[in-house]
Amino acid sequence: MEEKKSRVVAVPCDDYDPEKVYEAVRAGVQALGGWEAFLRPEERVLVKPNLLKPAEADTAVTTHPAVLRAVLRLLEEYGCGSVRFGDSPGHETGMHALERLGFRPDEAVFGALPVPMTEEVRVDFPEGMTEKEFWFAREVTEADAIINVCKMKTHALMRITGAVKNLFGLLCGTRKAREHMRFPNDGLFARMLVDIHRCVKPRLHIMDAVVAMEGNGPGAGTPRKLGLLLLSADPVALDTVFCALIHVDPETVQTNVQGEAMGLGFRHADRIELLLVRPGEQNPPAGMTIDAFAEAYGAPDFDAIRDGKNMLARGLSMLALFSRRPVIHADRCVHCGICVAHCPVPGKALSFRNGKDQPPVYDRKKCIRCYCCQEMCPQKAITAGRSFR
Ligand code: SF4
Ligand code: SF4
Repeated sequence: MEEKKSRVVAVPCDDYDPEKVYEAVRAGVQALGGWEAFLRPEERVLVKPNLLKPAEADTAVTTHPAVLRAVLRLLEEYGCGSVRFGDSPGHETGMHALERLGFRPDEAVFGALPVPMTEEVRVDFPEGMTEKEFWFAREVTEADAIINVCKMKTHALMRITGAVKNLFGLLCGTRKAREHMRFPNDGLFARMLVDIHRCVKPRLHIMDAVVAMEGNGPGAGTPRKLGLLLLSADPVALDTVFCALIHVDPETVQTNVQGEAMGLGFRHADRIELLLVRPGEQNPPAGMTIDAFAEAYGAPDFDAIRDGKNMLARGLSMLALFSRRPVIHADRCVHCGICVAHCPVPGKALSFRNGKDQPPVYDRKKCIRCYCCQEMCPQKAITAGRSFR
């Protein structure tokens, strides 16, 4: 008997022209069986984009508004009568982030309402492997179905942020700091992220990789065009294809490793069916191997953490990971203190101990290397550097 496989659909999409994006998302959903494979129209839907922090659409910090609008339009066409969309960023609010992307707090988009996601509600999860309860934004508990509209980006702690990582935003802002303290390395943190998925069971994952982010992600990297939308019901398989595209070994990414170990999805190529779909073509979608797809559409020089392919490299990778730590570039720092405010460590692992006219200084003994400071710095003044100091 043939083993079960997870289907990942890739749809080329050159740019964020609204009609092109709409056609691409429509074709991608169709190739996965149509909305009816995931939702009933009468269900209450929460659409969760990546709204890391308020930023312009062309910075690639957030899911592009054209992708979010396309999803909302398609849900309206499918007949969904109760659709909401939002996120809970670590810095400022989801509403601020939406406003920067051209949405208005009081204005429905294709019948869907933006929601603040600032009030938290406890959800018991006795089968959790890392947490027996989560404190989610209230809107999460009011939804029957969650659609994850994530962004393809690099991440200093997790290497990538894609489908699995994006649901961290279902926790309200301050709650995130607590989880960073409780799960202070990428393996433990990944297990907690997988538990979030096991708890809320998102129905579908749609990844905006038209323009991805490379380098100093997830908040301060460089936009990089890949010209693709990726869709799947399996977030681990989707992130595995993401890794293949940017030539990162999926086994070095803990959300893939723990995601498969905890039964969330598949990370091995032989358990993933990849379909390439071209909107408007009459031919049935073409199956491709992940390697052939990465060869044709990938970016071998994508700026990402890409070590650890064999035993020796894995050893070096661990060493590299050990020596990697946040570094402040004094020439870019404006002494705003946002990094200090977001450090989750009690007593803070960085402070203005040299005075507020100087950049903050790290206390390396306290730092758990969660990279919240790097993620939130508005000046791109913090990078994940390598140093033994
Ligand atoms: S957030 Fe960035 S700019 Fe602000 S104090 Fe920290 S390093 Fe400097
Ligand atoms: S200093 Fe930065 S990396 Fe270290 S614990 Fe604080 S926020 Fe995390």
